[in-house]
Amino acid sequence: MYGLMQREPINLVSILGHAARWHPHQEVVTNTVEGGIHRQSYSDTYVRATRLANRLQRYGIEKGDRVGTLGWNTYRHLESWYAIAGIGAVCHTVNPRLFPEQIKLIVNHAQDRLLVVDLTFADLIREALPDLPSVEAVIFMCRGDDMPDVGGWARPVYCYERWVGEGEDRIEWPALAHDAASSLCYTSGTTGDPKGVLYSHRGNLLHAYALSMPDVLGIAANETLLMVVPMFHANSWGLAYAGPMAGAKLVLPGPHMDGKSIAELINGENVTKAAAVPTVWTMLLGHLRTGETGLDSLKEVGIGGSAVPRAMIEEFRNDYGVNVVHIWGMTEMTPLGTVSRPKPSMAGLGDEQLLLAKCKQGRVPFGVDMKIVDDAGRALPHDGRTFGRLLVKGPWTIERYYRSDESALTDGWFDTGDIATIDEHGFMQVTDRSKDVIKSGGEWISSVAIENAVMGLEGVEIAACIGAKHPKWDERPIVLVKRGADSQISKNEIIGELSAHLAKWQLPDAIVFVDAIPLTATGKIDKKPLRAAYGNCLLQ
Ligand code: ADP
Repeated sequence: MYGLMQREPINLVSILGHAARWHPHQEVVTNTVEGGIHRQSYSDTYVRATRLANRLQRYGIEKGDRVGTLGWNTYRHLESWYAIAGIGAVCHTVNPRLFPEQIKLIVNHAQDRLLVVDLTFADLIREALPDLPSVEAVIFMCRGDDMPDVGGWARPVYCYERWVGEGEDRIEWPALAHDAASSLCYTSGTTGDPKGVLYSHRGNLLHAYALSMPDVLGIAANETLLMVVPMFHANSWGLAYAGPMAGAKLVLPGPHMDGKSIAELINGENVTKAAAVPTVWTMLLGHLRTGETGLDSLKEVGIGGSAVPRAMIEEFRNDYGVNVVHIWGMTEMTPLGTVSRPKPSMAGLGDEQLLLAKCKQGRVPFGVDMKIVDDAGRALPHDGRTFGRLLVKGPWTIERYYRSDESALTDGWFDTGDIATIDEHGFMQVTDRSKDVIKSGGEWISSVAIENAVMGLEGVEIAACIGAKHPKWDERPIVLVKRGADSQISKNEIIGELSAHLAKWQLPDAIVFVDAIPLTATGKIDKKPLRAAYGNCLLQ
């Protein structure tokens, strides 16, 4: 027997439609690619998305077609997201920070018909186009006056603003199957070739509701939300849906993600909540230490993508009164997995223990289930000590990769590739990525634990721990350290400080000072080149 409720089909564009109807004057603010702040209302955003959608349909984009974007977080990129998915096409957010060869690989794998791109990437696209046979045309997200010189380009090139001008401001949004594909995002391939994760309207909608819950990010109409996490990185963590769903003011940094620009945007727009990976906050805190400004309006930052260092949580709290909410997730999970917010059962914990809980990745909201298992697949206890492979499931977790014939699940569960513990409060802690764990004489050492301890030291800007080959122990930890400007911290001082936090056998065998630590296209430490360069340093 079916329930007798209305069966309105799910189309994500209805989120923007809701924002336009019920929060019409609420602003979308962008620090633009061209320079300068741009403001428009949700009402304008919806009309412009409608016009673009109409123009895309007139061009011949149909349900299921892929349209790629290479863009920063801007109002135009936001409009494109809603327009493309709204007509039943698939918005493929390409990470422009990938190497050109990887970009070609994923655009060809996705078979994108159009590319909607920011001016920043003009050279990249011009050079790649001859190798992108599926791409029929390129649309630059700019005004006619700002169009680059496209003489001699391999495909037709259009101007976004002209398209928006040419589209009608009315459209019959198509009825979609509720699990129709909305968007496509490739994992950045820190482990091999990129794999496509195909999101659905239903999964994204449920995910956006979950993200808004008070125990998750608590997104409400009276918040001003700074979405630093790029729209090309794991679906912008769903914020591009959750913000308009709540009618929150949305602030978009464009390409300007350095500490000074972010501080100016927060203070200029009275941002109350913000979300980004730790590297962004490292840059912001570094800038704030100059003493030029504070962060008066900011109440809370969501941080995820890699582990949040304890020192960052403390600095935000002690110096700026900002609460850090630690988030864990992955592209394959749309991407929300867990959030670290205390529960009533933790009321008796002291400050130090609560801080340690915040350093954990946290607990699942309804819509995610998780367990840790041993190599035989047996479930392990929630004692906060036993670690195992972390498996997840739920309506916004992947079933299979795009164009794959095989399910990505085992017995209904997806293996995250993370190694984790779960404690008695249900708080999960990632101890490592399975491929980064250091296997030293049969014992496992967490590279993350060492990195966090080193990064907490004054004078250390960033540190990366890898396993180096060892004649006796197989692997031993070594740490690459980039010191802060003017810092004189020595190897002995670092080892001395670490001895307070780590057992003797977990202490690194070598500390190597470097000028830079390589980052992946999503701003995480890239250990592949470090292993290649330093993986044999203990053998010499
Ligand atoms: P990629 O690393 O390829 O860019 P994702 O962004 O999807 O792809 O990365 C997901 C992985 O990032 C997780 O499996 C986990 O290893 C790591 N990660 C995400 N958030 C956290 C966090 N808060 N703490 C530790 N690791 C995290």
